[in-house]
Amino acid sequence: MRLAAISDVHGNLPALEAVLKDIKGKNIREKVFIGDSVGYGPDPNEVTLLLKSACKAHVAGNHDWAMLGLTDIAYFNPAARAAIMWTDGVLTEEARTILDGWPVAKTLKRENMLLVHSTPIAPEEWNYLFSPEEALPYFDHFKQKICLVGHSHIPFIAELLPSGRTMGYREGAELREDCRYIINVGSVGQPRDRDPRAAYALFDEGTVEIVRVAYDIRQTQERMTLAGLPKPLIERLAYGM
Ligand code: ZN
Repeated sequence: MRLAAISDVHGNLPALEAVLKDIKGKNIREKVFIGDSVGYGPDPNEVTLLLKSACKAHVAGNHDWAMLGLTDIAYFNPAARAAIMWTDGVLTEEARTILDGWPVAKTLKRENMLLVHSTPIAPEEWNYLFSPEEALPYFDHFKQKICLVGHSHIPFIAELLPSGRTMGYREGAELREDCRYIINVGSVGQPRDRDPRAAYALFDEGTVEIVRVAYDIRQTQERMTLAGLPKPLIERLAYGM
């Protein structure tokens, strides 16, 4: 299996373009998207159209659902809510229709993978799974070998051993025959693990690697300033927080 998994792009076009270029440079053709095309960033339409054409499978995130009136934005923090309302104002019907076509969960049979934005337990409730240490109870809620998630913007690899114990990895791991995995692929457009570079997961012949890609953060920040998006959202990109 050779496959790239990308998530949480959040309207950050320079970050998405840098990641797609990196994936192409590694000769990986198959890409899947784990949700949150929009929200926070300045280019929600361009990003959504590009994700539609670039990826073979997509699931929706909570910010995508907010564009369809399906997520209650009352629980978003004020800056996130302001960005959601700005995005709602500029989103084209074409982009909205694309988001509307994405399910909350998708199975890839050949890859033996489940894709969900949040967690495999009631994915539409948008709960957070932050670390491998919390992953154990979630393994009972999917049948596939691998479950890919996003949502927290913090990449990790949780491995379930045949003994029933779990192991955690941050940067990469071998995918063992007798183990199962929950993998948070990180965020392309707004990383929150103190590394501002875009993140994605690369599957290549029995291994998974969390890849980091530098991109022109300034360009995204300038576009956000022009759009009048909240300052804390602009500043955090430089810190990866
Ligand atoms: Zn997100």
